[in-house]
Parts: sequence; C-alpha cells; structure tokens
Amino acid sequence: MYETLALYIDGEFLAGDGRKTQEVTNPANLEVLGHLPHATTADLDRALAAAARAFETWRHSSPMQRSEILRRVGQMSREQAQEIGRNLTLDQGKPLAEAVGEITSCADHCDWHAEECRRIYGRVIPPRSPEVRQMVLREPIGVCAAFTPWNFPYNQAIRKICAAIGAGCTIILKGPEDAPSAVMAIARMFHEAGLPPGVLNIVWGVPHEVSDYLIRSPIVRKVSFTGSVPVGKQLASLAGAHMKRVTMELGGHSPVLVFDDADIARAAKQLARFKVRNAGQVCVSPTRFYVHEKVYDEFLEGFVAAMKTVKVGDGLDPDTQMGPLAHERRVPTMTKFVENAVSLGGKVVLGGTTIDRLGHFFSPTIITDLPDDSMLMTEEPFGPIAPITRFTDTDDVIRKANSLPFGLSSYVFTTSLQTATKAANNIESGMVNINHFGSALPETPFGGVKDSGIGSEGGTETFDGYLVTKFVTHV
Ligand code: NAD
Repeated sequence: MYETLALYIDGEFLAGDGRKTQEVTNPANLEVLGHLPHATTADLDRALAAAARAFETWRHSSPMQRSEILRRVGQMSREQAQEIGRNLTLDQGKPLAEAVGEITSCADHCDWHAEECRRIYGRVIPPRSPEVRQMVLREPIGVCAAFTPWNFPYNQAIRKICAAIGAGCTIILKGPEDAPSAVMAIARMFHEAGLPPGVLNIVWGVPHEVSDYLIRSPIVRKVSFTGSVPVGKQLASLAGAHMKRVTMELGGHSPVLVFDDADIARAAKQLARFKVRNAGQVCVSPTRFYVHEKVYDEFLEGFVAAMKTVKVGDGLDPDTQMGPLAHERRVPTMTKFVENAVSLGGKVVLGGTTIDRLGHFFSPTIITDLPDDSMLMTEEPFGPIAPITRFTDTDDVIRKANSLPFGLSSYVFTTSLQTATKAANNIESGMVNINHFGSALPETPFGGVKDSGIGSEGGTETFDGYLVTKFVTHV
C-alpha cells in the first residue's frame, strides 16, 4: 500500500477540506500514486503555533525520553524497511535494494542520535574568585524549519528531524513534493512512537512560498536546507536578514583523482558502480574525473566496460541497477549537458541519450575530451553522466580539483601514502575519500565548504546547529 498522503500538524494527519493537491507519479511508468495536499497559510500558522507551544515542554524533556523515542523509530524503520523502501522506489525511482538500504541506514542514524543526545554536555569554567561559579549550558535553539529534497527523501529528512528532536528543538519540515512517501512514513512512525503533538510537523506546498513564509516567521529560530546552491543561497540570505541560524547542505561537483599507482581495474569498477547509484542524483556523486595520463586508457576501458553492463529499468525489477531520473525536469537537463559537451568537442563514448521507454530514463553516459570550462566540468549534472579527462602533474590536478566554487566531497585513488596525504591536506572539500567511498555514516560528519554549504550533519557535530550556548555565573 502506498502511504496515505497528508499534512502532519500538531499530532494530526490532515488532508482534504478543500486544500489544493498535487499529483505524485511514478517516474518509471508515470502512473499516478496519490494526491498530496498543500498547506494553506492557516495550516502553516497552525504548524508554527504548535511547534512554539510544544517547544515550551519539549525543551525540558529528559534526554532519556528523547532517546527512547528516537530508538523506537529506528527499530520501526528496520521492521518496515521493505514496505517503506518499496514506496520510495515507487515515487522516487531508485532500485529497491538502494531504497531499502536507505531506510535501514537511517535506523542507524536514529540510534546514533538517540545515544549522542544523552551526551549534550555543558562545562564548568574555573572562576577568578572562589565564591563564583561559572557554567556553560547548551540549550535547544527553538523552533526549526527544514526543507529536504527528493534524492534521498528518507535520509535527508531523518537526519534533520533526529538532530532537532534530539537537541530538544521542535521542527516544521517541508519534504519533497515529488517523492513524499518516505517523509510520510517518518511522520507516521514518530506519531506511533509517542512523540508529543507539535514536536514534529510536516507540511507540503509550493517550495518557495512555504520556505518564505516559515523563514520570515519570528517563531522560527533555525533553518536547515538540503538542495541546490542557488536555492540555498536564497534561503540563507533570507535567514540572515532575520538573524537566524542556518545549516546548508548544498550541491557539489566532486573531483575524482586517479593516480598512476592506483589499482586501476578496481577503481574503474567501483567508480562506475558509485556513479550510477541513485542515477547519479547524489550531491557527493563522483563528478569530474581526472585520470593520470599513464593509466588513462586502461581506466577508460575498465570504466566503459563497467558502465556498459549497468541494467537500467524499473526500480522494482530485482535486476535493475539504475532506475529512472526522479522527475521529468531532470531529463532535458541531462540532454543540455550532453549537447553543450558535444558542441565544445566532447566525445560521447557511451550513452548520451534518453532511453526509448515510458518514464524519465537517461542512459549511463561517458564523455571524454572536454574542455575544463564546459558545462559538465563546471556545473553539477546531478545525473548519470561522467566526464573523463587526463592529468600529468599532481599540483596541477589538485589546483583543478579546487578550481570550482563547490567543496563537498572528493575521491582520490592512489597507493602512495605521500600522495594520499598531500591530496587530503590540500583538496578544498568537506570530505575526502581515499581508495573507497566512506562518507555519510551516522558517526561521521557530513558537510561541505565554499558554496557547498555551512555546518555538518552527523558525527559528534550533529547537534551543534541546533543548540545555543548560554553562560551562567553566580556567587
Ligand atoms: P530545485 O533547485 O528546484 O529543487 C531542489 C530541491 O530544493 C527540491 O527538493 C525543491 O523542492 C527544493 N526547493 C527549491 N526551491 C525551494 C525554495 N525556495 N524553498 C525551499 N525548498 C526549495 O531543482 P531540482 O530540479 O528539483 O533539482 C536540481 C538541482 O537541485 C540539482 O542540480 C542539484 O544541484 C540540487 N539538489 C541537490 C540535492 C542535495 O542533496 N544537495 C538534492 C536535490 C537536488
């Protein structure tokens, strides 16, 4: 059964009552899955009032109570992973195994936050006179507004919700209208787990209208967004104008540096698999490939061979390794990237076209011989397209890796400790993965630098954006 689509405000699931609705479709076959109600202004006001009211109690809840609820949701996520994963595949398109994996990995996120929220410590500062006491307290910042995207609908929402709730904040979250089932499942599970009304509120609507309304509200004290750089900048500017804290997880353009001493066959195979994960719609997807000229031909041959075998299809088909793009807007964007590349002399070695079947399918694509200033080498494709280029000099390739305004993730393949260290020390990105893909675990911080964002999610840093520091002194 596909999730019942509703708003979730002040502990109630709300639909109908003349609200405008939006069709939710399956990107693999364009079938209509359901109708999503948009929040009216009155709904948003109700969510704001509920979150403000609930904060007065929830801020004083014991970390044990928060921990218990987070654990229960983690447990339910594991128990219901197949069913929630199936719905995620239906509305987002990713292969079922990836969808189920997203849900079970989020159960670990719930557990991590359940443990870490019991360790939100303050400190005592030695005073200058013996009768004085000086304490630093860390308190929840207040009502949070969060906006999450369609590429990892469960993961992006659960990270923000767990961090806010675990810190003692309340939250209003607008999920992705294109793929809403995962966020609905989260609301349903927190409701069943006994989260008090108003602590978590879920709304839907026209993204810019909802974010504008919520961010301007004096009730909201913190804004968290995952999505594109331009939208992130708009929301951060608005938040800044109203002096509100932000966490921004924005786009990337991850460089991949393959050195001549790497295990080339392994790197080519692993990178191909990782590139088509979620059809390339991943902010940390390997995006610009720089391969040492000595191993370029060998790498390209291995990479093409691996990408050729990728089975594209409906995510519910167990043989499928790459599903459709998540919505129709992505398809013409992919074509634009390929056309720009070809117009600048790029060679399409594999794919480059849509797939002739119903749904938003685009073929795994490899393009070589591209200039550094082409669209593909400078703008985030957010799709299954890989540009492969050559390099000769280590300093030069590190300069190229740092040449864009993005700084989210990066990948280095080498067996030299010296090269690995040099790359890790000099690449400007929030995450550097050497010889494997190790980001986005609950216990490790996830976040970017430069235009890729502000703040981290996960790791021991996870609550930083949701807490304020208070100094208390007395004699
Ligand atoms: P988009 O920029 O219109 O939307 C991206 C996401 O942001 C969507 O979930 C959308 O609902 C939301 N959004 C857009 N405007 C908003 C606003 N004013 N207020 C609140 N939320 C808003 O583009 P799109 O076609 O859906 O996606 C394309 C681009 O988005 C990609 O190229 C990629 O860079 C970026 N993106 C990044 C991530 C990520 O994980 N960092 C996830 C999804 C999309």
